[in-house]
Amino acid sequence: MSTQVETAQACPQPSYWETHKFTVMRNLVYILVILALIVIPVFKIAKIDLAHDEAWIFWKKVPVEDGLMPVILALGFFAILVIVMNLFNGRVFCGWICPGGWVAELQDKLRRKMYHSRSSTVGKISYYLVSLVVAVLFLALFFNWVTDLRVFFYTTNPMFGWMWFAFLSALVVVYFEVFIGKRWCRTFCPTGIYQKITPYHHKFKTTMAPQFNLSDCGSCRECIKNCPMALDPRRMAYINDFYKGIQACIVCGECVDTCKQVRLSECKEPLMTWVTELPERDPDFVSGKVSK
Ligand code: SF4
Ligand code: SF4
Repeated sequence: MSTQVETAQACPQPSYWETHKFTVMRNLVYILVILALIVIPVFKIAKIDLAHDEAWIFWKKVPVEDGLMPVILALGFFAILVIVMNLFNGRVFCGWICPGGWVAELQDKLRRKMYHSRSSTVGKISYYLVSLVVAVLFLALFFNWVTDLRVFFYTTNPMFGWMWFAFLSALVVVYFEVFIGKRWCRTFCPTGIYQKITPYHHKFKTTMAPQFNLSDCGSCRECIKNCPMALDPRRMAYINDFYKGIQACIVCGECVDTCKQVRLSECKEPLMTWVTELPERDPDFVSGKVSK
């Protein structure tokens, strides 16, 4: 008993913030992005309303053609953001800003609970339905930028048929994205593919700290299980590969948080960290021949 007390005193348990820093910060950024996507058109800071052939800029009604300008500027801003972030540190946009990436990540967590080989039929059907609801809400977020959403119920509006056509066409793709979760970001997302094939640089990358090797690793594999991109975070920065290498990393820091959760609770120094220069490693470590 006294030994336990001594150990507890020698090793204070880490705070939630210490072990979930990147999870908390990323979720906050994602929530702010989603809020901006809701607030800007709802409060008519910038909105096009094709159903009523009008647009709004800073609460002022303008012709639709004038209302296109802020939308084009916003798209241009995001395109430049993706290019600049990718040049500096890889797929930061995917790991910190893209609302689709966030939804896919949350869906992945749901999928693990509701849709796997041992799930009941009810569980699997529930997952299909939940995915449909999420896909519809996610799409409504974007349609709200270009139309009054009530158009979907006004059969007499000239845009009624066109809007339903556009919505259902987009829903096929978005439902697929939501249903497969993070596999969308790994394989299909055009922005993700763009970032893998255009110039990129990774100033900060996650890996095992230089003083550690796999022999120090408890091989709990929690960092691998929690990596949204299904990478082995300990060695992925050494690998040049679209699916298993640093090109796929979304710089989320989940592996650093996870290793802290595992190791600090065992009173051990975390292995995973951020580096600017990769430590020298044994080729067998890099190739995965030595595995833990
Ligand atoms: S979470 Fe840490 S201890 Fe566990 S496998 Fe990853 S690097 Fe090793
Ligand atoms: S390797 Fe780490 S930082 Fe990269 S995607 Fe996986 S968890 Fe995120």
